[in-house]
Amino acid sequence: MVEQIKKLETEIRTTLGNIKDAVELDLFRLKYLVKKGSIAALFEQMKDAPPSEKPIVGRELNLLRHIAESEYKELKEKFNSSSPAKKQIDLTLPGRTHFTGTFHPTLRTMDEMIDIFTELGFGVAEGPDIEDGYHNFDALNFPPDHPARDMQDTFFIKSDKDLLLRTHTSPVQIRVMQNQKPPIRCIMPGRVYRNEAINARSLAEFHQIEGLYINKKVSLAELKGTLMVFAKKMYGENSSFRFRPSFFPFTEPSAELDITCYLCHGAGCRICKHSGWLEIAGCGMVHPNVLRAGGIDPEVYSGYAFGFGIERVTLLRTGIDDIRLLYDNDVRVLRQF
Ligand SMILES: [Zn+2]
Repeated sequence: MVEQIKKLETEIRTTLGNIKDAVELDLFRLKYLVKKGSIAALFEQMKDAPPSEKPIVGRELNLLRHIAESEYKELKEKFNSSSPAKKQIDLTLPGRTHFTGTFHPTLRTMDEMIDIFTELGFGVAEGPDIEDGYHNFDALNFPPDHPARDMQDTFFIKSDKDLLLRTHTSPVQIRVMQNQKPPIRCIMPGRVYRNEAINARSLAEFHQIEGLYINKKVSLAELKGTLMVFAKKMYGENSSFRFRPSFFPFTEPSAELDITCYLCHGAGCRICKHSGWLEIAGCGMVHPNVLRAGGIDPEVYSGYAFGFGIERVTLLRTGIDDIRLLYDNDVRVLRQF
């Protein structure tokens, strides 16, 4: 039997010397090392050997198995480490992109507007989205029969007819006046709701930013000056503006601020309804009744107020011509700004 073992050892050494790749190495494993391989077969034969030979046969066989297994392991490692996947790193490949979120264009516009007004000395105030009829209408000098109070224009809370989703940020003005003594100078950004058909120009849910300044002897000239400084910072020194008389229940006199159309630069187009101008803000001197509702004496104090639609300003800055695109949440649109 010892001779058989020596013969197998010679065979194994020759085979190992000729192995060139992982495939050949695996064939070697299947021939000699597995449970039904040549070495195991000799172990099997050992039980028929004469008792005197058994210790020598056992030692020789164990030695052979050890040699074969360790050589096999060594070659396996050699083939693994030289495989192309492990050996080469391609430094010219582009890196992995990690996408980060961006601010929504509406939020970005709002932040920028807040920055400019903060620079001009305005503080920031906020109020609830669910308002009562008093703060949303009565205190703001809306007559009892005003159409805005209609179900067609306002979302009322079903369980309580006096509660509604605020239709503008103006009720925050009343809340600020009730809680603060003049001089008051603040802006009120927030979400507002109107029961309107959704189309390219209007949504049922959008954002406004409202401004309020109350002090002794506040004049219309100050209102115009403040809005012009803001508008030039926001739209650039070369933009043209105009004030146009208007009407709101809560201001007297009232005006609207227009900017030259960004698309046609005043020549007239579809976006500006061929007027060459786009409305960007409503404004005016705070109505004495509103001051009274806020607990402020109109004989002593006066003030101005203004309000911007933030989506409208965003459309003007980005050139988007359909307001719905802002809230489709298509990242291909939103990432551009
Ligand atoms: Zn135009």
